[in-house]
Formats: sequence, structure tokens, C-alpha cells
Amino acid sequence: MVKAIVGANWGDEGKGKITDMLAEKSDIVIRFQGGANAGHTIINDYGKFALHLLPSGSFNKNVVNIIGNGVALDIPELISEINDVVGKGVPKPNILISERAQILMPYHKLFDTYEEERLSDRQFGSTKSGIAPFFSDKFAKIGFQVWELFDEEYLKDKLKGIVEVKNLILEHVYHKPLLNENELFETLIGYGKLIKPYVINSVVYMNEAVKSGKEILLEGQLGSLKDPDFGIYPFTTSSSTVAGYGSVGACVPPYEIKEIITVVKAYSSAVGAGAFVSEIFGDEADELRRRGGDGGEYGATTGRPRRMGWFDCVATRYGCMVQGATQVAFTVLDVLGYLKEIPVCVGYEIDGKVTKDFPTTNLLNRAKPVLEVLPGWECDIRGITKYEDLPENCRKYIEFVEKQIEVPIKIVSNGPGRHEIIFR
Ligand code: GDP
Repeated sequence: MVKAIVGANWGDEGKGKITDMLAEKSDIVIRFQGGANAGHTIINDYGKFALHLLPSGSFNKNVVNIIGNGVALDIPELISEINDVVGKGVPKPNILISERAQILMPYHKLFDTYEEERLSDRQFGSTKSGIAPFFSDKFAKIGFQVWELFDEEYLKDKLKGIVEVKNLILEHVYHKPLLNENELFETLIGYGKLIKPYVINSVVYMNEAVKSGKEILLEGQLGSLKDPDFGIYPFTTSSSTVAGYGSVGACVPPYEIKEIITVVKAYSSAVGAGAFVSEIFGDEADELRRRGGDGGEYGATTGRPRRMGWFDCVATRYGCMVQGATQVAFTVLDVLGYLKEIPVCVGYEIDGKVTKDFPTTNLLNRAKPVLEVLPGWECDIRGITKYEDLPENCRKYIEFVEKQIEVPIKIVSNGPGRHEIIFR
């Protein structure tokens, strides 16, 4: 059976933890989009890890972890993550890489940095991992798929044409040092050597895995509101974050994705620029940030403080809708235990009218949150393993959210550890 694990919000919902937990009973975990630009934090018996490219099944000996064709493959980053995990005592993960995955080139990071510099105060708040230039090149058909590393003549020839156009931009737009074609060629040959043992025909592999009834998890990065079609465009990421894209980025038949486990965080956080209607500021935000996640809400890739907000029913209902959520995993609920009262955003007021439908970016920028205040439970809920044992106000919070977002909450996460979980 194929299940997707995706985010309904702005990312950082705790998908890594849910994937790591579900991987225990799975055969394959495959990343289908994104790159090393966001991170999953995972805490298990081996310790605490920030994964960027490695699939979150990497801690399970029984799991095959695949970099799907839809991923932006940063080869040095992947190798350093494998080394890091192994260095911390985890058995070497079982990794496979699609021969059709595209390679994040060293110059993609440069172009990302130069463009943010050029934009100055209008910048996107990119993590500068090269993601936007990478996907631009992929769809402009000047990217490189993994198999190209193993056809030297083809590679050399293609590289010549691409370096020519990149250097024109470097010289005339950004006024930066030019690329050296031979150096780049050597780098790519080196990349090929590093990943050769892992490369497979993932199209055949995945289709056979589906046919033989393997348990497969499609692992998403970021969330619905960062999707380039459905999110807060242009303050989104550059590859689709929705489960439907899993069919393309992991190469499984669309009708085989039977469960779409959509991860929803019990309050809001976001990184980068763009509208964030339920955002809070000052001491209120600082306290939630400090207490949030595991050891505070700071980016797993950049370390920068995340923007904080109350739970947003409008954004989350929409986020679940665009995912086609079949169930919700509701995470980091334990963090809210310090609050006497918990505001929740139940509508957006735009030009004097209240709506529950998530609007396009122009209207979003004018939206004001309509808040409803729920009573807090004012105690620590970590360690609880049965739904009935949660305090009444905590259950009421969950059930209120469930009604608003119109998707059953079947999993509640009440701590960062792998087994801090309540099934309903
Ligand atoms: P992802 O990108 O969706 O995997 O999310 P991140 O890893 O960036 O952020 C989630 C953060 O919350 C991580 O630090 C997790 O360890 C932590 N986390 C996940 N689930 C829970 C939970 O139920 N309670 C608490 N306190 N922290 C959690």
C-alpha cells in the first residue's frame, strides 16, 4: 500500500517524526520533491538528527530509502548526511537514487545567493540552497539528470552550452566570477563516483514494489501553503508539495496512493517572507517560539528563528483540501500546555467581510484574523498514550480543530520522541 506523508501548513509540522515512526512498519520511504532546503528533525534511540535529503526511514534497517526522480539532488549534501548518520552509530542506511533525479549544481547555490543579493529588501528569504535556480533550469530543460554523469562525452558537450549561457548571466547581470567548464566537468565526474553504487532505474523499481504489495511511504517536504500552485505564491517553494505530485516525483500510479496522512501542527510557524494571517509578535511570540518544537522553533537548515502564530483553521482546512487528506496527524500539541487560554483563527476578515476560504495572495495580504479563544488545559500531556486520558480541554481543542478542518484527526503527537504518539 502506498501512503503519502505531507504537510498542511508552511512546513515544519513534524513530518519527519511521523515518517520515522511509520517507517518501522514500512518497506520503502521515498522522497518525491524538494531538496536539501528544509530539514526534518528526528529524535529516536540513536539521538537527534537534522535530515535534509536523506529520507526519514534511514534509521530503520528494514527500510529502503529512495531519492525519487522529483528531488533536487545535492550530492555533497547527501553524502555528508550519510556520513553524519553513520558517524553517530546508526547502521549504514539502505539508500537508492533514481537515475532520473536531477542534480543540484554548485552554481545553483551561487545564483540563489546572487539573486537574493540583487533583490535586496525585496528578497524571498531563500535558504540559498539553490532550489529556485535548480527548478528553473529543470523546466527550462537545461538541468542534468543523474544518468548524465555516467556518459562523459554527452556530459562534456552539454556542459559547454550551459556554461556559456550561465557565464553570460554571471558577467552581465550579477557581475560575478565566471564558471570554469573543465573544473565543473571534474566536479561532476567526482559526483558520479560518489553516488554510483546507489543509482537505479526507479521507474521499474517502484512499479514492481507497488505490484508486489510493498508498504511504501511517500515523504513530502514543506507543506501545502508553500506549494507553487496552491500556496502563498510567489513566497512559496519551487516544487510541488502536494501528495498528488508524489505520483510523478516517486513514480507510482496515482490511484495507488491510498492514504494521505496530512501533518498539521497545533499552532502555526513559518519561515521566509509572505503573508501569515495568524502571526503573533513580541513576548507572546517569543514564548511560543522558545517552548515550541523540540528546543525551540528555529530553522533546521538555517537556524533562523521561525515566525510564530496561533492555529489557523482557514489555512489548515485549505491545506488539507489541496492535499486530499484522508487523515490528519496533529503534532506538537504538548507545547500548548502552558497557556491558560488558546486563541485559534477561525476566519479571515477581508475588506469588512469574513471568509473561511483561503484566498489568493493579494487578498491574503489584507486579511485580518478572526480569533476564537478556547480554554487551555494547563498541564503537561507528555507521556499520555490513550486519547481518553488527555485532559478534557485538550480533547476539546482537538475536536474543535477537527470540526473546522473537516478531516479526521487519527494521530496525535504529544512529544518529539518516536513513540510519543496517540492513535485514535
Ligand atoms: P518537518 O520538516 O515537518 O519534519 O518538521 P521539523 O522537523 O522541521 O519540525 C518539527 C519539530 O518539532 C522538530 O524539532 C521535532 O523534533 C519536533 N516535534 C515533532 N513532533 C513533536 C511533538 O509532538 N511535540 C514536540 N514537543 N515536538 C515535536
